Amino acid sequence: MDDPYLNGYILNRKAFFPDDCDGNTGHRHNNRQQSRSGNESPSYGSGRYSVPESPEYSNEISAPYEVPQYPIEQIEKKLAIQKQINVKVLEDKRSHYEPSVTSGPIDEREGPSLYLDEHDLVPHFQRVSISGEDTSGVPLEDLEEASRLLVEALQIRQKYMKLSYQSFPTTTATFLHSVNPDANAKLEEQHHDERQSIEEHGIHPPGRANPWEIGLPPDTGHIFKATEGVFQVYLNQTCLEKNEPCDFPYPNLNTYVADMNNMCNMIADGPLKSFCYRRLSYLSSKYQLHVLLNELRELASQKAIPHRDFYNLRKVDTHIHAASCMNQKHLLRFIKKTLKTNADEVVTVTNGVPMTLSQVFQSMNLTTYDLTVDMLDVHADRNTFHRFDKFNAKYNPIGESRLREVFLKTDNYIDGKYFAMIIKEIASDLEESKYQNVELRISIYGKNQQEWDKLAKWAIDSDVYSDNVRWLIQIPRLYDIFRLNNLLPNFQQILDNLFLPLLEVTARPSSHPELHKFLQYVVGFDSVDDESKPENPLFDKDVATPENWTDIENPPYAYYLYYMYANMAVINHFRKERGLNTFVLRPHCGEAGPIQHLVCGYLLSENISHGLLLRKVPVLQYLYYLAQIAIAMSPLSNNSLFLNYHRNPLPEYLARGLIVSLSTDDPLQFHFTKEPLMEEYSIAAQVWKLSSCDMCELARNSVLMSGFPHKMKQYWLGPNYTKEGVAGNDITRTNVPDIRVGFRYETLFDELTNIFNAFRSNM
Ligand SMILES: [Zn+2]
Repeated sequence: MDDPYLNGYILNRKAFFPDDCDGNTGHRHNNRQQSRSGNESPSYGSGRYSVPESPEYSNEISAPYEVPQYPIEQIEKKLAIQKQINVKVLEDKRSHYEPSVTSGPIDEREGPSLYLDEHDLVPHFQRVSISGEDTSGVPLEDLEEASRLLVEALQIRQKYMKLSYQSFPTTTATFLHSVNPDANAKLEEQHHDERQSIEEHGIHPPGRANPWEIGLPPDTGHIFKATEGVFQVYLNQTCLEKNEPCDFPYPNLNTYVADMNNMCNMIADGPLKSFCYRRLSYLSSKYQLHVLLNELRELASQKAIPHRDFYNLRKVDTHIHAASCMNQKHLLRFIKKTLKTNADEVVTVTNGVPMTLSQVFQSMNLTTYDLTVDMLDVHADRNTFHRFDKFNAKYNPIGESRLREVFLKTDNYIDGKYFAMIIKEIASDLEESKYQNVELRISIYGKNQQEWDKLAKWAIDSDVYSDNVRWLIQIPRLYDIFRLNNLLPNFQQILDNLFLPLLEVTARPSSHPELHKFLQYVVGFDSVDDESKPENPLFDKDVATPENWTDIENPPYAYYLYYMYANMAVINHFRKERGLNTFVLRPHCGEAGPIQHLVCGYLLSENISHGLLLRKVPVLQYLYYLAQIAIAMSPLSNNSLFLNYHRNPLPEYLARGLIVSLSTDDPLQFHFTKEPLMEEYSIAAQVWKLSSCDMCELARNSVLMSGFPHKMKQYWLGPNYTKEGVAGNDITRTNVPDIRVGFRYETLFDELTNIFNAFRSNM
């Protein structure tokens, strides 16, 4: 049979419906009947009825052949019955469903008209509506001024996202397009696939036979040269001499500084602050009312979906560092095991003397028997609160940097062998649990140009590929340390080390074949360090270029992020042209330190991690909402480092409709159980009394914001997931009720309508 999916489906059926085999079949039947009789179940579409509960799969013994096991007449009769049922469902739909957006008539000339998808129908639910002419609660002049500033801010972000091939939400883009149809806001035709049932398009993507096999595009003769810190790509030597770089546009430093200043003025603007604060309060209240009125409906529609529950829907740990992705017990067990099996392996060289693993432990006066979790001392505790220095030291097991080097590094005497083994154990646990995925962050320091090749060689030689794992490259902001130790002359050297190998491999894949293979699983870049470190806030257009940044002082956060963004934008243009995958920027941002970091995040990054400080900046928080910028939050990590659990803004953000997901950050330091992500969800659910619907929404957000490929997301969320609103939700995969998705979409639509109507009346 040619259809790879169907094959997989039939072969995997046992694994796919495990609890169908142990007595749950009854429930499933009940649910089906309920939905047939047209109750609240929002399962429209022919999908669920297209493959009947039939016995023909149960006697599947070998490869499935396309030979019908029943007489044709019988099959046709069955199809006819299904058709009748479908018609009935459609009729039911008319009486039980309604179009998702009912926010009053929208004039074609005045604003975006809504194209209604056939699936864009939600079950009836209770809506909160505000009547009256002026519903914003602020004076008209303030509203007009506020809407002007907000539209401007959204246009700025859209420009940065577009120039770097990062994403911008379609709904907001449509509104921007409606007020400025011909500027760079030109609306792109996006292709959406149609909804398909799980039987037609399963939830498990087909695995890859050889993940490292990938075609090598032919080499080209492109040359690269950095101009004021940003690499330019030239077709050949002649173009370089004539100074005619390829047209890979990016915002230059002056534009960036101007936009930063503009945004900083905006977030300090009094009337705008009041306006945004009021809108955010309104959003919170609206959500409370929504839950009050619709909680039971949401729960009922979740119950009506067979098989799917919180445990078997896809979740992605969107923020987790590879060096701390195992819990302390796991690391301890691994160290003990290795000490038994590999005692005589030379693992390090100290002062020119090779040392075996057992000698390393002897030098610390330790035997396997002595080792305990307490002695390992990697767990964060009350002494790490507001002490990032102490926390950083926790990365060293038993306080010994040597153990960290042996066990938790990719580039050491044993070529990262042990670290790869631990990562593979983690990956196989994930594969076993099936529904959990991670995006591991792994460091490139920018110390030399071999780092990329070494990392790729490590990944491929030790074969750390897993379908459940993707990689993010984290770049620590350590220029000052390298400069102090005279490892580099200026900041440009770091940029050379980080980006030249990427440009090189994009032009000439055969020169770095391993890196070329590895990069297909790299989704983007992160910028990491302690944000609360004091930094020089002065940053203007006269700031030293990276070439001239020779101080021992560390450049500010905004400087690091800009040069990462600008070079990434150029590389993305180049890779796009070459038909290769592109990258996104997903920095740690707003965990602590100045709020300007969040402005950088707003301008430059696809999504951010932490975002705690948004709670203090209503204008930015509202903009993060309008632009639907995702935030990977780690309340347990924050609880040990910067903010007590009960003060964490996650429930507030979630209520307001910001796209938040739960992530673990460092299971080695914060978690106790074998499934740290579940632990994170579990504690959040208990402390904040999250409903099952909230948890499923968080999980759906995590998949949406993750860097897993579009094709995989189509399996996980539905082929139609890119559509806006209810049309993009498939409850049979996400377990998020259409009511919730409809509420979110309509709320965002209303907010944007308010702002853009005020903006238009002012034009
Ligand atoms: Zn982190």
